Amino acid sequence: MQTHLSPDIQNTPAGKAAESILRSCVHCGFCNATCPTYQLLGDENDGPRGRIYLIKQMLEGKQSAAKTLTHLDRCLTCRSCETTCPSGVQYAKLLEIGRQIAETQIKRPPKELALRKLLRKTLPYPKRFSTLLGTARLIKPALPGTVKQKIPQKRRYKQWPQNKHNRFMLILDGCVQPSLSPDINAATANLLDRLGIHLKNIPQATCCGAVSQHLNAEEEAQRFMRQNIDAWWPEIERGAEAIISTASGCGAVLKEYHHYLQHDVDYAEKARRISELCKDISEIIMDEDSEQLKTTNVDTAKKLAWHPPCTLQHAQKITGHVETILTRAGYTLVPVADQYLCCGSAGTYSILQADLAQQLRQNKLENLQKHQPEMIVTANIGCQTHLQEATELPVVHWITLLDSA
Ligand code: SF4
Ligand code: SF4
Repeated sequence: MQTHLSPDIQNTPAGKAAESILRSCVHCGFCNATCPTYQLLGDENDGPRGRIYLIKQMLEGKQSAAKTLTHLDRCLTCRSCETTCPSGVQYAKLLEIGRQIAETQIKRPPKELALRKLLRKTLPYPKRFSTLLGTARLIKPALPGTVKQKIPQKRRYKQWPQNKHNRFMLILDGCVQPSLSPDINAATANLLDRLGIHLKNIPQATCCGAVSQHLNAEEEAQRFMRQNIDAWWPEIERGAEAIISTASGCGAVLKEYHHYLQHDVDYAEKARRISELCKDISEIIMDEDSEQLKTTNVDTAKKLAWHPPCTLQHAQKITGHVETILTRAGYTLVPVADQYLCCGSAGTYSILQADLAQQLRQNKLENLQKHQPEMIVTANIGCQTHLQEATELPVVHWITLLDSA
């Protein structure tokens, strides 16, 4: 695609990156076929090809930032289009540039600004989020139905194993996950303990930066990233083998630290190391001798429906691991149609674009429940909570299921 970016953007790092990505797109439109918002809305501007064109026109000074941002806001950042694109267009990177630039050129309505600020000031802070969730649970009966539905049931906290092993790995505890589902990381610690690996949680580590990044607060996101690097670095120097993520959304961002901090002379090299060390828990279990995890307690008749989060399959490009691990453990996975499609959770999307998110969830649940599974398993707290709001079936992280067997 030919480009003529306006002179004020052309020679900036963002302008150069955008130009190179725009030029790699041949405008074939294959990506539209697997885009969830294009499927729902049928509007070229709500598909990847149209969004790419809107960004190009905005960067050339031919399109208003307001119109562009409306359609970029509706994008889930699910990256299904990247998986489909035969030309390897780095859509998500272009999207971030487009969003950042459009955001500086328009003023959002006050209500929208306030909601986005509220999300940025609560979700990435575990104590604030935990207080908010605790209060919401206390006053739940008095809340309206739509809000009530968003408050998940309390999950039991599990003890972490106390054994020490020579081998050790770090875990990203996450920001909302410890309050919503504290059993996930405890299950991970238990399973790794059985494999002879000690799992360390460093309390100074914080949110991965995804929430701020998704809400176009780039500098804030980078502050979180630097804080995590500082928290983990001494343990990395002591020989930590990996940094494990049990939420694929966070893992996808950790694996991009090298990209986000590439221009930071003090952190670029460390960020590269963090991205190298970051592993989804499914990658670790696949690589280890899983014979040690074999148990006789698996209910092999139990039928599971697997929902692979977009951040696992499209962003991290991890496919087949969880299915293999669960099948090897003895579980039966039912077929699920259109697994490439997003469930609508997508970070803060389910709050900011609630109508679209609910339609996507309804379609997703129809596919997941079609063959009467007894449980839905997934790999990201966002998908887990979003899906659980609208189904009676239990929705759990696969690692908790494996630990309970
Ligand atoms: S992003 Fe890829 S699939 Fe989509 S129009 Fe461009 S080249 Fe074609
Ligand atoms: S990231 Fe997802 S929603 Fe956005 S354009 Fe690509 S496929 Fe569509």
